[in-house]
Amino acid sequence: MANIAWLAPIGRLAARAFLQFQPYLLHVDQPANGVVENSADTIQGWFVAARSNDQEIVLQLAGVTLTFVPVERPDAKRIFGKSVTGFRAVVDTNEIALTPAAHGKDKNLQLVASGRVVASKPLRLLALDTAVAEASLHKRGAKREWLKQHLACPSCDAQTTPLVFEGDKIYCQACQASFENHGKVFNFLPEKFKREFQIAGWDNISAHSYDEVAKAVVEQARSNGGKVLDCGSGLRPYVDETVICLEVEEFPNVDVLGVNQKLPFQNEVFDAVLSLNVLEHVTDPFSCARELVRVLKPGGTLYCCIPFLQPEHGYPDHYFNATRSGLKQLFSRDLELLRHFVPASGEPIWSLHWFLSWYARELPLAEKTSFLNMRVQDILANSAQAMLQEPWVRRLSDDGKWSLAASTAALFRKVAEEQ
Ligand SMILES: [Zn+2]
Repeated sequence: MANIAWLAPIGRLAARAFLQFQPYLLHVDQPANGVVENSADTIQGWFVAARSNDQEIVLQLAGVTLTFVPVERPDAKRIFGKSVTGFRAVVDTNEIALTPAAHGKDKNLQLVASGRVVASKPLRLLALDTAVAEASLHKRGAKREWLKQHLACPSCDAQTTPLVFEGDKIYCQACQASFENHGKVFNFLPEKFKREFQIAGWDNISAHSYDEVAKAVVEQARSNGGKVLDCGSGLRPYVDETVICLEVEEFPNVDVLGVNQKLPFQNEVFDAVLSLNVLEHVTDPFSCARELVRVLKPGGTLYCCIPFLQPEHGYPDHYFNATRSGLKQLFSRDLELLRHFVPASGEPIWSLHWFLSWYARELPLAEKTSFLNMRVQDILANSAQAMLQEPWVRRLSDDGKWSLAASTAALFRKVAEEQ
């Protein structure tokens, strides 16, 4: 993943002594070429801040403070110890384009400690276009006006009681619940929901562009003057006035924060709903499916894509994969099936490639080498049972076993009733 080969010659002791003189380091490993193409690109790396008296440490790009999540970086920690913070940061290129300081494409990613720039790395931003940024701001404003008319309280079943928008608060007149509205997103994700639905911080996020089917669904809704809900949108590289993006994290394209289990929308308001590789990440896909159906207009279209043979992947957790019958079953009671297919992004070669590359990655070097040198027919010549004692089978990491398991098992006990 990371290329920090330059650190290898520095011994651990020398590295720690080095920090006495140079207590701040900033390393970027993605984008590897130093070019940020759009808001769907994340910046990944790590920094060291070895002074204990710093008040606040932030990452800034062209004067804009970036949202980032901490990421485990054992590679850098091995050398520089616990003062390492790994990060994955989101860049809102529109926000930067509208910042007066942001002239020219060459920017420095800056590590700012207690208000002082202590380290920096040059980056090139391609998508800085003031006209696009202003148009995006306008589209977001128009969507927010539409949303004010179509949002509903997710805490109670009062889907017809209008919400009250007052300053930076949103109030439900039916159950007195209140939510946040701080100007960019409507926040229907209180701590209570985060706990109830096990929403952890994002650690990896998807940023895929729409396939042809999704594009057609959006264009159809656009031509009707309707709206599409992209439920669990992840990062999208641009703002589309027709598409309302709901997520659990405030990415630059996101309009509403909320959970799929309790969508903060009135009944039957969307011409179409997209649920693209999201339902494997929710604790209860059946209740989420009912919510997707509830907010869809009669005659509206749902495009749902859900993994079948994919390894366990987080973002922030992964619960249920579905077979083709499972996918149909989720919606069979309420929706008419128009088309049932394997999308290009779901071709079996993805499974094969994903499993083999992941398997290799989770082996120690010697076993990885022998595994990579095997031919497909070497693997297929024996039964799996006969290969259980092979080093490249036995030495797969625990994490690899869980992520790629053919099945997992558990033993439970029913808790005795308290007397
Ligand atoms: Zn309510």
